[in-house]
Amino acid sequence: MRLVVVGAAGRMGRALVRTIAATEGVTLAGAVEREGSPHLGEDAGVLAGLPANGIALSDDPLPLFAAAEGVLDFTSPASTLHFAELAAQARIVHVIGTTGCSAADDDRIEAASRHAVVVKSGNMSLGVNLLAALVRKAARALGPEFDLEIVEMHHRHKVDAPSGTALLLGEAAAAGRGVALRDVAVRARDGHTGARPAGAIGFQALRGGSVVGDHTVILAGDGERIELTHRAESRELFAKGAVTAALWGRGRKPGLYSMADVLGLSD
Ligand code: NAD
Repeated sequence: MRLVVVGAAGRMGRALVRTIAATEGVTLAGAVEREGSPHLGEDAGVLAGLPANGIALSDDPLPLFAAAEGVLDFTSPASTLHFAELAAQARIVHVIGTTGCSAADDDRIEAASRHAVVVKSGNMSLGVNLLAALVRKAARALGPEFDLEIVEMHHRHKVDAPSGTALLLGEAAAAGRGVALRDVAVRARDGHTGARPAGAIGFQALRGGSVVGDHTVILAGDGERIELTHRAESRELFAKGAVTAALWGRGRKPGLYSMADVLGLSD
């Protein structure tokens, strides 16, 4: 399967280039960076710490999408919207790992998915998607007498909060309780906040160092507490998930899919 990596000079972009090189059945068909990037023209393999592969970073995605079967996209919400339109025109699989999309952004991505397969997830790892299934089950079993808090920590360069993964886990908890996350989410606390509202799902975001991504879901009841934790140890984990999603999406009918669909966890 011929894949284009957009954001190829980014932390995830480089991990994707390495993962494609190490995976049978996929080849790197192009590498895209933003206009004005100092890395344009550089060899994507060398940038990712591999031998040269002859694929130079380009700021012109259109001809590359036209000659590919899929695009792996871990960039920014604005660029992901642009790539969603191009991928829909080219009718190629669009795997979206970008986080921080607004509800309006998600509507536009859904519109693009009428024409092409889109797999979008705030976390592409098997472990987190399994954790989400466990959280849904725990939230359903324990009910709102157990206060639910989601704590995440990421490296100092991360620009959005809470993380896409924390929101994915929050959605799973809300689904378990049969409520809409937007009605119960408490995304920040500061000053005299008053007591905790019953049924709230709280988020706390820590930032620092080089942490790839830690998430803990706490269910705190009277006299007992459950903590469910996932720790990502390398970005290759997400890159492997993205490649798996692209292969899964090939030949499927257009639509918006999640990583839980890819992994068979969306019961
Ligand atoms: P990063 O800043 O290192 O990389 C993003 C890259 O995208 C940069 O090189 C940037 O120049 C490039 N870019 C921006 N606009 C572009 C455009 N219009 N065309 C081409 N390239 C463009 O960030 P990162 O740490 O690699 O994370 C990227 C995104 O992926 C973030 O939203 C992050 O939260 C998300 N992420 C998701 C998962 C997951 O499993 N879903 C895992 C890790 C990171």
